Amino acid sequence: MMPEISGQVLYGINNIYTVAVADKKLQCRIKGKVLKTKKRQYNPIAVGDLVEVVADPFSQGKGWIIRRKERSSSLERWNKKRRACQVLAANAELLICTASTSNPPFRPRFIDRLIISAEIGGLIPVVLLNKCDLGVEPVVRERVEVWKKNSYRVISCSALTGKGISDLEEVINGNTVVFIGQSGVGKSSILNSLEPELKLKVGEISSKYDRGIHTTNFAVMISLNKNTRIIDTPGIREFEVSGITQRDLHGFFPEFSPWSAGCAYSSCLHIDEPGCAVKHALERGDIHPDRYRSYVRLFNDLSDFQKGFYGSAYS
Ligand code: GDP
Ligand code: ZN
Repeated sequence: MMPEISGQVLYGINNIYTVAVADKKLQCRIKGKVLKTKKRQYNPIAVGDLVEVVADPFSQGKGWIIRRKERSSSLERWNKKRRACQVLAANAELLICTASTSNPPFRPRFIDRLIISAEIGGLIPVVLLNKCDLGVEPVVRERVEVWKKNSYRVISCSALTGKGISDLEEVINGNTVVFIGQSGVGKSSILNSLEPELKLKVGEISSKYDRGIHTTNFAVMISLNKNTRIIDTPGIREFEVSGITQRDLHGFFPEFSPWSAGCAYSSCLHIDEPGCAVKHALERGDIHPDRYRSYVRLFNDLSDFQKGFYGSAYS
């Protein structure tokens, strides 16, 4: 038996994982059942996972993953079709939730989902608002202020002019950082301004990284410098939160907490209960209506999720 070596998963395609070990990379398959997960996940190994591998003595550059170490964080999303959650990235400290002021349109409720998923998975969310050179509409500015009031970090930038890129560099330096966002927000352009050597293709959704045919749908880890790593995820259109119940959700809306003790029912979910102090705060304008809309949409999505995840107990 070959010795076990520690490594980190850089990416995986069709169940073959590229693992960085010491000074080389091994193409690995999963061996045995050592990777069974507690929760319903359809991918046992994700980018960023720390693993133990053994090299294949008969095949240069190949090996097997025999164990996965416990994750310090994990970014997960719910996959409706598969009725299971997907781990997008493991062991990262920050989630850069990339948005654009316009073109494609600013989608704040989509960013809310990313922020919440970061917090569920133990990552610190950072909102990165790109394309500021196009101007920032008052509605966008107002919504950004709400995140700031809730103590989320927001960085405004322009990959085009370079404004704000040094603020971003300062925040990510020394961390493992996941970049996520809708296609077209400028994620590749931003990564290129952080590291021109990456030469990511801009303005094209497919064929990035020259990863061959099956290239459109997986994340990849890149070293930016000695102690900073980036996990670039493919552009996404939708994002379903996973891993919490309807009852947990209000805890992810910090602006509800000053009011919720005043609700008539201590178990109030702030949906349609009488005497709901959160809804009164909304009516008075103390809670931003779009944030409340975000809450209600997520609340409704989570009921589907719970049906899939827990069976009938929660439905
Ligand atoms: P990705 O799909 O998120 O990786 O986005 P890309 O980096 O491929 O950029 C999508 C389009 O937005 C391209 O046409 C870029 O030139 C453009 N773009 C990216 N960043 C900026 C920016 O800061 N300002 C403006 N005006 N356009 C940008
Ligand atoms: Zn209430």
